[in-house]
Amino acid sequence: MAGEQQADCLFCKIVAGEIPATIVRETDTTVAFRDINPHAPTHVLVIPKAHYPDAASLAAAEPGVAADVLREAGQVAIDEKIVDSGYRLVLNTGSGAGQTVFHAHAHVLGGRGLNWPPG
Ligand code: 5GP
Repeated sequence: MAGEQQADCLFCKIVAGEIPATIVRETDTTVAFRDINPHAPTHVLVIPKAHYPDAASLAAAEPGVAADVLREAGQVAIDEKIVDSGYRLVLNTGSGAGQTVFHAHAHVLGGRGLNWPPG
């Protein structure tokens, strides 16, 4: 059923504590943890605990939890002290856009200059 944990999903395993991660924040509905392959001094992933394959499907099914993810991303930026210098939220959607883990997640990137447009 939509939103249920998936046995073969890497991020569901992080939510369940079956795979270790450096967790920086957690709420009833979300977990934020450091990316294993950081592309910036701050590179944190914020995910819903419920399983949805991407951010759009999460927002369609559970808009309140999608808002939780965005609010937590903002709080990560505050905690990491990257608000004043600017930071980027990225929602890669589909393999053609670089999505490799099909459990909705927001990248929080900051702590260095960020170019636009992205590659
Ligand atoms: P995507 O490419 O799907 O937008 O982002 C997936 C992210 O998950 C990548 O930046 C990748 O480095 C990160 N990642 C993949 N496997 C793991 C893992 O086991 N632990 C953590 N902390 N991050 C992971």
